[in-house]
Amino acid sequence: MSTPTAIEIAAQVRSGSQSATAALESSLSDIAERDRELHSFLHLTEDRARAQAAAVDAVVAAGNDPGPLAGVPIALKDNMCTRGAPTTCSSKMLEGWKPPYDATVVSRLEAAGALVVGKTNLDEFAMGSSTENSAFGPTRNPHDPSRVPGGSSGGSAAAVGAGLVPVSLGSDTGGSIRQPASLCGVVGVKPTYGAVSRYGLIAFASSLDQIGPFATTVGDAALVLDAISGHDPLDATSIPAAIPTVSSALTNGVAGKRIGIIDELMGEGIDEDVLRQTELAAEAFRSAGATVERVSIPATIYGLAAYYLIAPAEASSNLARYDGVRYGARVDGGNVEAMNIATRTAGFGDEVKRRIMLGTYALSSGYYDAYYGKAQRVRSLIAAEFATAYEQFDLLLSPTSPSTAFELGAKSDPMALYMCDVCTIPSNLVGHPAMSVPFGSGDDGLPIGVQILAPMLHEPAMFAAAAVLEAAQKGSS
Ligand code: GLN
Repeated sequence: MSTPTAIEIAAQVRSGSQSATAALESSLSDIAERDRELHSFLHLTEDRARAQAAAVDAVVAAGNDPGPLAGVPIALKDNMCTRGAPTTCSSKMLEGWKPPYDATVVSRLEAAGALVVGKTNLDEFAMGSSTENSAFGPTRNPHDPSRVPGGSSGGSAAAVGAGLVPVSLGSDTGGSIRQPASLCGVVGVKPTYGAVSRYGLIAFASSLDQIGPFATTVGDAALVLDAISGHDPLDATSIPAAIPTVSSALTNGVAGKRIGIIDELMGEGIDEDVLRQTELAAEAFRSAGATVERVSIPATIYGLAAYYLIAPAEASSNLARYDGVRYGARVDGGNVEAMNIATRTAGFGDEVKRRIMLGTYALSSGYYDAYYGKAQRVRSLIAAEFATAYEQFDLLLSPTSPSTAFELGAKSDPMALYMCDVCTIPSNLVGHPAMSVPFGSGDDGLPIGVQILAPMLHEPAMFAAAAVLEAAQKGSS
């Protein structure tokens, strides 16, 4: 299937050889045809997209610049606020809720000429690695519908993997962009913490959450990232400085770069075919003039344990707002407390309840130091070790996901799903950028992605390396 890229669509729309309206209708008809099987979308925002397409076409007709994403259909994970359109987080708690404002990323995409076609499925409140925790049913992997697309941004990954839209946005707290990107055979980027505004992203774990793009090419991911990154006074954690653009760095290559393969992520728990593809990616970097060596970052093995205390702790606080009073679902009770309990019992699914209980326990007096405090110390240790590694290396390399896409229902034990994030979590804990790039396939024929990690705000070098892997793939296929 050769769906046009975002770069191609924008070039056609800007030159007038295709209208934004035609690009939109083509995407909407692909969705109508294929998404009944995949269920990557929860709701479509056709009216808004049609109005936006007409506005872009009018700008072109008037001879003005419609923006770098002119006429590009894009899908958003359903935890990003869209004014007047449902934003559910795949939870019964927010079913029917329509936010009164747009997330900053939505305004920025539309200002750049993009067309928001709809909202995609996710694990409830972004907690999960398979999109099976959605209250509205799972999404299926476009490469094999009996398998999961990964998660929690599984809908956004599957929509791009299936060619329904050229690009989409997800959010990544512990790997929720990179892991589904790997399983769906697409590019997925978690930017530096603070590079993309979180205003209007419904919070899961605020010190870890970042929004980023999915795309079929490194160039498309760069185009979208450049459109959404940059300081936003509405997000207190937004970096108050210029964010380096990545589109201009794509041809920089890796000649002379020092790349480290993280030792601790190349052994136990990672499938053989994934290890093989990661080694082949290292070879591709060597052929392009980089030096690649192993590097030990011992504390990475504690990342998963620290994350599953810190993320639930923050979630337990963030999700306290769903109390049946201000907005969202309400189930009546005899008094306020009974109403709160009935609402939260009915509104949240099992995994969300599990996280709230874990997080509340980790923060409770008497246990705070032993659990939350210790996890924060581990977080500092991992950051210190990454800083040391980056004294010797420009970039790091690892697998993205321990395996290719698994069958729906195959991982019923929560711990088995938590293990899916072992390679992706460290970057969230330290706030660094990382991305997954498709690099061949596994013994089962399903896609495998490899992860490129970079120091804070070194996205340009990370994208240049990703482009090298992409070119090596093209050369080999
Ligand atoms: N799978 C991880 C979790 O369940 C990461 C989720 C995410 O990045 N949003 O917490």
